[in-house]
Amino acid sequence: MSYKQVHKKILKALKKEDLRKGSEAATKDELKKRKYAIATHKYSLDWAEDVKNAKSTMLFDVVSSVEKFRKAFEGKNKYFYFARTPQDLKNIIAEIIKPGSTVVKSKSMVGEEIELRQFMESHGIKIYETDLGEFLIQLANEKPAHMVTPAVNMSEERARQLLEPVVGEKLNDVTSMVLGVRKFMRKIFFSADFGMVGANALSADTGSVIFITNEGNGALTSTLPDKLIVITSVEKIYPTLLDAIKAVTTQAIFSGFEYTTYVHIINGPYDFYGPKEIHLILLDNGRIRNDDLKETLLCIKCGACQFACPVFQVVDGAWGYIYTAAIGIPWTAITNSKETARSLAAFCLECGKCREVCPMKIDIPELIRKIKAEEV
Ligand code: SF4
Repeated sequence: MSYKQVHKKILKALKKEDLRKGSEAATKDELKKRKYAIATHKYSLDWAEDVKNAKSTMLFDVVSSVEKFRKAFEGKNKYFYFARTPQDLKNIIAEIIKPGSTVVKSKSMVGEEIELRQFMESHGIKIYETDLGEFLIQLANEKPAHMVTPAVNMSEERARQLLEPVVGEKLNDVTSMVLGVRKFMRKIFFSADFGMVGANALSADTGSVIFITNEGNGALTSTLPDKLIVITSVEKIYPTLLDAIKAVTTQAIFSGFEYTTYVHIINGPYDFYGPKEIHLILLDNGRIRNDDLKETLLCIKCGACQFACPVFQVVDGAWGYIYTAAIGIPWTAITNSKETARSLAAFCLECGKCREVCPMKIDIPELIRKIKAEEV
């Protein structure tokens, strides 16, 4: 995206009064919830430091970390793939999933990063996002506004307009929307050929996949279909299962959840229950070679910095491409385009609020400065 295109997108968002009001209310609420969650869990700041140290160890030599995880993960009916580029990942998916298949999918930022859903649809695969927010994004054919709450900026009225024709009934309020989608999805879960999930963390000692959800869709997605596909990226590897559990707990707390509802740990297929085979695809997409912006890989995608950002508070998803707000700028430079990242960087106020709230203490303003100064 050019500077002009970003500017236009932001001006358009500023003119939408309902979106501005919705964003302000949502961000205020999230900040309150995060403070409460951190205060409730007295260990949260210590754990955040442990997670940063554990992650730094693995990022020091990502190639060896990938190899360690691969060895621990592979086994009977457990297949590991490394995708250097988005196209590699898509090719692997096209090999595994044949056109005409049905896939139920849990939320994944890696999937968004490479526009996997759009690829699968164009490949003749029926895909259903099972996270409610992500399902709304799919129906609206939009990009997520936030890493954790993709449809945070969507009004109730718009959600109703999108859901009613699909669910096939009148949805009067938020509760009826949730229950309507739940009923609609149940049938699809039982007939799906594949489940697809992202991972919030991977452990190099046990080869486990750890992911968290609040809606229970992750449990159904990962256990009902006969085949499970995990799509994730190289910076999610932690030395031990304990580190990985600390990481997902820290992510949930700093996302503003006092308690995340479900923490899933997948260790393998089981002959009688759940999927009979698991395919795990680990994406690089510019992460391994990006020494100048390497600090970005410490990000655990809690989204706290997005809600703390004064620009995001008024225009939310309009400031960004896939990864929005300040941390979205180095993520965009690494995984998408340096030109787009520079265009986005021009709108950063350099207030430093993002650095203040980040559990990994990432110096986001410095990363943005490097991008602006064309040092990367
Ligand atoms: S940069 Fe820090 S605050 Fe922002 S999403 Fe990543 S870990 Fe969370």
